[in-house]
Amino acid sequence: MLEHDVLVIGAGLAGMRAAIAAQTGGANTAIISKVHPVRSHSNAAQGGINAALTDRGDEWEEHAYDTVKGSDYLADQDAIEVMCKSAGQALIDMEHMGVTFNRDDEGRLGTRAFGGQRRARTFFVGDFTGQALLHVMFEQLVKSGIRSYEEWFVTSLIEEDGQVCGVMALEIRTGKMHAIRAKALIFCTGGLGRAFEPSTNALIVTGDGISLAYNAGARLMDMEMVQYHPTTLAGSGVLISEAARGEGAYLLDKNGERFMEAYAPNMMELASRDVVSRSEQTEINNGNGENGCMFLDCRHLGEALIMEKLSQIREIGIDLAGVDMIKEPIPIRPGMHYMMGGIKTDVDGLTNVPGIYAAGECACVSVHGGNRLGANSLLDTIVFGQRAGDHAAAATRSKEFVNFDGSAAVKKEEGRIQQILDRPQNDDRVANIRLGMGQTLNNNLAVYRNQTGMEDTLRSLGGLRERYAHVPVDNKGAVFNTDLIFSLELGFMLDCAETITVSALDRKDSRGAQARTDYPDRDDENWMKHIVTNKGEEGPEISYLPVSITQWTPEVRSY
Ligand SMILES: Cc1cc2nc3c(=O)[nH]c(=O)nc-3n(C[C@H](O)[C@H](O)[C@H](O)COP(=O)(O)OP(=O)(O)OC[C@H]3O[C@@H](n4cnc5c(N)ncnc54)[C@H](O)[C@@H]3O)c2cc1C
Repeated sequence: MLEHDVLVIGAGLAGMRAAIAAQTGGANTAIISKVHPVRSHSNAAQGGINAALTDRGDEWEEHAYDTVKGSDYLADQDAIEVMCKSAGQALIDMEHMGVTFNRDDEGRLGTRAFGGQRRARTFFVGDFTGQALLHVMFEQLVKSGIRSYEEWFVTSLIEEDGQVCGVMALEIRTGKMHAIRAKALIFCTGGLGRAFEPSTNALIVTGDGISLAYNAGARLMDMEMVQYHPTTLAGSGVLISEAARGEGAYLLDKNGERFMEAYAPNMMELASRDVVSRSEQTEINNGNGENGCMFLDCRHLGEALIMEKLSQIREIGIDLAGVDMIKEPIPIRPGMHYMMGGIKTDVDGLTNVPGIYAAGECACVSVHGGNRLGANSLLDTIVFGQRAGDHAAAATRSKEFVNFDGSAAVKKEEGRIQQILDRPQNDDRVANIRLGMGQTLNNNLAVYRNQTGMEDTLRSLGGLRERYAHVPVDNKGAVFNTDLIFSLELGFMLDCAETITVSALDRKDSRGAQARTDYPDRDDENWMKHIVTNKGEEGPEISYLPVSITQWTPEVRSY
């Protein structure tokens, strides 16, 4: 049987960073990914990565304060302190590994402004920062000699005597099922964006790890906090990076007026994302948009700057909306972008389930609370990926493998998959169920929410789940059966959708990304707490955890 001390699930930035740390810590480490590592969604990150460098006169406390305020005081301040203190070194490490960050006129690492931050502390590579980071990290992975199972899909976890001790994985190229034994699993499986329709996320971002961990007893936290990004392209919903506003772009209504002054007079377009998205949605609802969109105006930035720093999003605008941002404002609207919630961990990636760690977007440490600041997620992946890898390597040193019958496990999982393939044909399709789920979430769990809408969604999800239990898979083959994979991914997304909706219904205040029209105010007395969901007999069960407050007392938030 295949066997490793530490198995990292997911080869985005968090996963590769975790694997390199675990291997360096002396553990026999492997990484597994359903796509080639550099196709992970981290590759799509555009705008940059935050760090406060003291030699620029910036301090980690300033970064931490902006992050706390950005989170609407829901994030855990002890975790934010860890992240912001580590940021400078993490950034320099990436530079030393070979990331070609943009430079300023003096030849030093250059920065751009990003939303919700009083200082420009976002380091970047054009508007394809994620690609630059991910490719450099991949070089390090190759150099390390870590075993990499590429295009292997984790279908379930193996549990023996109540202990999680490995994964079942489908080798996509051949259709062969494998059992992989491990002393520790580190989930770095990314977000769940595709549960919503539309979303800025790649089609592979389907909440697999969040669902697998949840079903193994892991607690999820802050699941109601779903980020709608202020600038997603009309029609397709593809991301137009905050870097555009960071470089000075304006948001306009249909009459060409900048409307942000009424909502955030100081920070204007660079207020935090939840604030800007709400402002846009309010304007759209009031009829000040056009075809459900507002406009992003980059014309005054000039062709030279756009071509140097925003060339990718210019191409996206031309290819997908037929608009050249050098010449015209580009139609945008708020769109689903990021999951603040996820598998609850401590600052070393530990969850409540022994042997399961998590890091990156699938995890909730919680450093983002009610709203993530742009460019803090890439930072989160490398800081907490590394910490989880370090901890897992040390923890597995004195741990024995759990014994189980690998071939029996393979047989059992093959049987489960075969049952799915053997379902009788009916008129339903995986794609229809996914669309139904995505649209109901996007209608009722978007920028503004209310009780009736969310109850509707919960009911719809129940119906979709029933259909899911019978939905046929057309392709019965073994080789690259993406039909089967889409079906398994849909099951993961339905779990995520349910925990999001149940958590959002439970929270009876407005905070960060959750803006309830029926509870419009932030209620610190009753709701300054994390909502935790774990799997019960009848579905998600709710409990609460306190928010860690170290040095920043909650205040009224204005930008
Ligand atoms: C368009 C876009 C732009 C962004 N721009 C920025 C930015 O500028 N700055 C910033 O800070 N953040 C940005 N973000 C957010 C940030 O990129 C992500 O939160 C972060 O990269 C997530 O990294 P990750 O390592 O956690 O997961 P991912 O990079 O999503 O990787 C997940 C991995 O898990 C694997 N996996 C998942 N399920 C399975 C399974 N069942 N079996 C095997 N493998 C599995 C996948 O193959 C993949 O390798 C952006 C996000 C998007 C969508």
